[in-house]
Amino acid sequence: MSEEDENREDSESPDDDSELEKKANGKYAKMVQDMVSTMEWEEGGKKGGKKKHVDIPEDMRVMIWFYTRLLDTEHTFQRKLQSMVSEQPIYNNYLKHIRGIGPVFAANLLTIDISKYDTISKLWADTGYSAVHWESVCTKGHHFMSTSKYNTCPVRALDEETKKYKVCGAGMEEAVFINAPMKRRHGWVMIQNRKRKMTIWKIVQSFIKQPSDRSWYRRFYDKMKAKELEKAAELEKKDITKGHANNRAIRKVAKRFLANFHIIYRQQLGLKIREPWVDEHKKHIYEEPEVDDKTVVFKTYKYTEDEKKKLEEFRAGLQQNVDSFYQLQKLRIQAFNRIVDYVATKYKPKDSNPKGTA
Ligand SMILES: [Zn+2]
Repeated sequence: MSEEDENREDSESPDDDSELEKKANGKYAKMVQDMVSTMEWEEGGKKGGKKKHVDIPEDMRVMIWFYTRLLDTEHTFQRKLQSMVSEQPIYNNYLKHIRGIGPVFAANLLTIDISKYDTISKLWADTGYSAVHWESVCTKGHHFMSTSKYNTCPVRALDEETKKYKVCGAGMEEAVFINAPMKRRHGWVMIQNRKRKMTIWKIVQSFIKQPSDRSWYRRFYDKMKAKELEKAAELEKKDITKGHANNRAIRKVAKRFLANFHIIYRQQLGLKIREPWVDEHKKHIYEEPEVDDKTVVFKTYKYTEDEKKKLEEFRAGLQQNVDSFYQLQKLRIQAFNRIVDYVATKYKPKDSNPKGTA
């Protein structure tokens, strides 16, 4: 996690990339898309020309070329990540069999050192899904929320002298335990692993897009959402909108998925687990984890000593590759958006120019 990410404020849909992509829609994006497929068709020796082909203006050839290179590299990168994760039993016998988890999501999940989390709550907390939190104020006046208690202030602030951001490090004025999840509030910094929360949020979005008859998590989401809406109706709470119900359902799916991943992964590694589907009163609270095909080997598989030994080195390398992948993807999306902006200016209808300078 980069240090900048740590202090950024969070929301229920922490998705910078989708913001980027949302910007690039509409008819200008479609024009650019057509130019991209045309160039791919030209470069492939004009084979398989079913798609619509358009003229690529001379001034745009290099920028379109650059974009297709980035796209190409991204696809190759994806395949390389896939072959990396394919060496891991937890991917081959479990994650691969869940609809909606592709190689990039799997790679993200496999950067988690599951041995560090002896309980599900700890993994939830580290991902921003804690049911409780601390609200603290440092002696320099920084307000921050965190899932664990801090003795020195972790907020990164601008140093007036050096003009650089650094960790505050001051002592605590007060720290209050709050028996509720963190919620974004003006003037408060949220300390959490924002990148991981974003990944899990994206995974849930991917589940929601699956057909319900073929995806366990999609069905679970539908069930949770219906429950939330029902609850709102019972309480006659008009202020609980469909959006709220949706957000709560997403949170529930995210937590359940993390819980299942935690239990299966630790079980396979031979680490201690608690039966998460039974609570302390021996009451059955969860359904056991399932996958979306008939595979059952994930329930019994045990990592060999050799597989365990290689894990740490694998994770370090994978983290590096995942970070690079996202950097590349961001660059690719930015390149696309820049071309769309360029096209929008280039083809703007003349009569919409109020100054009449065209
Ligand atoms: Zn401070």
